[in-house]
Amino acid sequence: MPKIKGSCLCGEVTYYSTAEEPTMTAVCHCPDCQKQSGSAFSTNVLVPISSVVFEGDCRKQYVVKGASGEDVTRNFCGNCGSPLTTELPAFNDLAAVKAGTMVDSSWVKPDIQIWCDNTKPWSKIDEDIKSAGANPG
Ligand SMILES: [Zn+2]
Ligand SMILES: [Zn+2]
Repeated sequence: MPKIKGSCLCGEVTYYSTAEEPTMTAVCHCPDCQKQSGSAFSTNVLVPISSVVFEGDCRKQYVVKGASGEDVTRNFCGNCGSPLTTELPAFNDLAAVKAGTMVDSSWVKPDIQIWCDNTKPWSKIDEDIKSAGANPG
């Protein structure tokens, strides 16, 4: 039974990771995560790209240049628009699973927050989480 699994809002696209534990978990305040989440940051459970299995025909991909200058691929539901994962080949071949889409995200504990230079004043998150100004990816 995979621990890291979830779906989009409408349920047409589901996913799981064969990774038993995340490589790391990170809160990202970058402009792209703000746009795609419609919120101040995204909370990401990072697992190897190759460990993620999708099911459902509605999945779409949006490829965009990340902060590293390399392409990142954002997987989302073409029916309801929920962001599901972001593939980061330039960041150790990890995929960022959007924690809020998981069946159970209660255990998620962010290790780090990144892009803190872009934090919005209307969002406060736990200051105990280690901060980095720039995106390591
Ligand atoms: Zn959907
Ligand atoms: Zn981001």
